[in-house]
Amino acid sequence: MTDYSKILVAVDLSEDSAEVAHKARSIAGGNGAQLHLIHVIEPLSFAYGGDIPMDFSGIQDEIHQQASQQLTSFGNTHGIATERQHIVLGRPEVEIHSKAEEIGADLIVVGSHGRYGLALLMGSTANGVLHGASCDVLAVRVGD
Ligand code: AMP
Repeated sequence: MTDYSKILVAVDLSEDSAEVAHKARSIAGGNGAQLHLIHVIEPLSFAYGGDIPMDFSGIQDEIHQQASQQLTSFGNTHGIATERQHIVLGRPEVEIHSKAEEIGADLIVVGSHGRYGLALLMGSTANGVLHGASCDVLAVRVGD
């Protein structure tokens, strides 16, 4: 197997994210691969735009600011340089694929919860990332 050289780690900034980053670091550490982080912010208008006639821009800016601070602190904790921390607006699966292609990642690492019943039917971000990825995807089991 060829070693990975550029690894994109997708984090939702929940408490599971550290587990995902640790696994990515252990893979990267062995062969000096470069680690990148991505966090995607879903626009409030995706969820509420059609139903609630109001301007979300102030709240959206606030969310962006808080997420940026959290990502910076997370990146620093895990030794990932600021220029390799990416924060983007959109749908997680779409933006993770797009960033992986943009930076030429050869591995995407995501967390995956064991899901049952309805939650399983509804799918997950890990599933979405796996389908359509143009590089390898590692789903790290989290939250057990
Ligand atoms: P979920 O399927 O939403 O429970 O998320 C599982 C995994 O998908 C997380 O551990 C992350 O790796 C990734 N993920 C979910 N949401 C986001 C997000 N907004 N930005 C980046 N990665 C995410």
